[in-house]
Amino acid sequence: MEHLGMEVFSPFETEMDQLANRYGDKPELALKYLAELKAKTTIPVEIATAQAYRCGLLSGLRKLKDIPAVISELESVPADGGQRQAKLAAVELCKLYALDETERGKYDSLVAAAFHFIKSAQAPTLRYWISTMYVDMTSRQGRARDAMEAAKIALNVARSNNDTRRQSTALRDLALIEVDFGSKEDALTHIDEAIRMAQTGNVPASELEYMLNRGFILTALQQIKDAKKCYQQAETLAAQLNRDDIPGIIWSNLSDIAYQEGKFQDSKVLSEKLLQWANSRKDVRMAAYARVSLGIVLIRLGQPDLADNYFHDGIRYFESEKQLVDMREYYGIRAVALAAAGDFKRAYYSLEKKLDYSTEIDQNSRGHDAAELRELLKTEQREKENLELRQQAQQSRVAVKEAQLRIQRWWLLAGLLGVFLLAAIQVIWFSRRKNQLLERENQHLDRERYLDALTGLHNWRYLMDRKAQMWAHALQEHQRGRCAAIMIIDADFFKKVNDTFGHAAGDAALIEIANRLKRNIRETDLLVRWGGEEFVIFTDAPNQEGLINQIDRLLKDFKPFPLNFEEQQITLSVSIGYALMPLSWADQSHADIDQSLIMADSALYMAKSRGRNRAIGVHLLRQQKLDRQQILQDLSLTEGAGEAILVESVGPK
Ligand code: GH3
Ligand code: MG
Ligand code: MG
Repeated sequence: MEHLGMEVFSPFETEMDQLANRYGDKPELALKYLAELKAKTTIPVEIATAQAYRCGLLSGLRKLKDIPAVISELESVPADGGQRQAKLAAVELCKLYALDETERGKYDSLVAAAFHFIKSAQAPTLRYWISTMYVDMTSRQGRARDAMEAAKIALNVARSNNDTRRQSTALRDLALIEVDFGSKEDALTHIDEAIRMAQTGNVPASELEYMLNRGFILTALQQIKDAKKCYQQAETLAAQLNRDDIPGIIWSNLSDIAYQEGKFQDSKVLSEKLLQWANSRKDVRMAAYARVSLGIVLIRLGQPDLADNYFHDGIRYFESEKQLVDMREYYGIRAVALAAAGDFKRAYYSLEKKLDYSTEIDQNSRGHDAAELRELLKTEQREKENLELRQQAQQSRVAVKEAQLRIQRWWLLAGLLGVFLLAAIQVIWFSRRKNQLLERENQHLDRERYLDALTGLHNWRYLMDRKAQMWAHALQEHQRGRCAAIMIIDADFFKKVNDTFGHAAGDAALIEIANRLKRNIRETDLLVRWGGEEFVIFTDAPNQEGLINQIDRLLKDFKPFPLNFEEQQITLSVSIGYALMPLSWADQSHADIDQSLIMADSALYMAKSRGRNRAIGVHLLRQQKLDRQQILQDLSLTEGAGEAILVESVGPK
């Protein structure tokens, strides 16, 4: 870990901080005094800090339309070196504050961009601010290592300024990340330090929040007695503070602990209390959670039918919210409970559900890269085989006698129990912790399913779900005498960018590539980040010449590629492989998007081997002598045999 020097606030920053504390709840006034304060400085970093705060205030006042003017003013401030980095970070932050509800998908990529700029800037206030946002984001994405780096920056700024409020928040963040990392002892040390600071600073609301975090950490450390004591203290404090949003969170955690200790009656009572509480507050998520918990603990108490009712009532909520990870874990825990109660049949079906969700989650989260494309055909075949296997299994399942079935499944369960009992409990804790942090992001999850976090573009999943539509559009264009194409764009020697300038520079370059592609497509085109440093564009043109022109323009737009990262100039080029849609196969039933994609990928491969910084397009296939498999496997061979017409466009030097 790099050494972080002292990062003391300048007098200007201190004054701004005081202003923020004094007028935090009066944003109109804060804006007015901020304008006066800003007039006193000409230092770019200080202007950047003030303007970022201004954008934050405007966003709070829902005056989003005023933000672009602040951004252009900020952009026109001359600055270089670390000052410029601070300015660029502030610009990203302002763009983020300018987002309205429908643009929330862009949030993550702006945070990432802001963080990447601020990492090399000397601007303590901005560094603290952006690092904290980055911690939130990366924790949510499960990127513990990145979160840790940012948390340390935030803590360093707080410590350098003896700022107890910032210090305690940073310590808490660090502690929660350390749990993810497995450094549980460190986590405990840090959360205790955070609590002490909140007490010293007399900030009981923070103290309460940190105590809940401490309960979570103690449970993860298996210090159950202390965890319970901690939650009880938190409950008392919550009552003193009239915080009626807290008890439910505490009871759900205590109910989990009781369940884990085998005190099922206690666990049930707590979950019932939670259900009542959630219903009275119309908190559907907590109510659903309470039902699922009851649906599990009642199995252990010998009431399987009642349990089933609760469980299915509760799980419906998570299903409608597409909370696949939650569902997987709940079915897993339920399977364990059913098996422990001797109901192997139901346990088996519950386990199967869990495995189904696992598969779905894997499929959703697995990136498709080029190599996988080549595997597509094989995979299709494999999937068919799997389906047959499943059908066979189903049939034999019916045929096998009940008693045999039990024994067989029991072994299957026994093998898996240990593993997922642990995993299940961990994830439950994790979701509880998200509750503790008073979740912000839930309703946006579904939209995020289709978005790439780094670039804000749509992701491969989106493309996959739009396939049928694209294909229909391509056929239509074809019939009208126009042409449609699918292209894969891959950055050249991208590993070198990472190796030379670091991963953060790589990320920034990816964002820049995305921006360049974006400005070269029309609204009716489709652009996605296909995975890693590869992008896919689906486009149409009046004719093949028009398409070639479009591609030429794209290649030209990457020269120059002015990305200034930490004083260093990053240059790069891209290679493109594309194929028209539809391609003419002798057997037209084979003409589809996947085959065009595979051809585009082969063309990309060829573009790479012919020297990169160029596009190669498959404009025509003849398929007279070669068979489909040969064509798919080797484009050079196909071209050599005169069965493909390829078009090459070379980018500028
Ligand atoms: P080529 O010209 O043959 O494409 O060379 P290349 O170096 O680009 O080769 P390759 O496609 O194999 O490597 C892609 C690299 O992109 C590997 C990986 O480290 C990097 N990469 C993928 N995704 C990301 C990302 O999200 N951020 C960063 N910084 N790097 C990424
Ligand atoms: Mg690649
Ligand atoms: Mg590459």
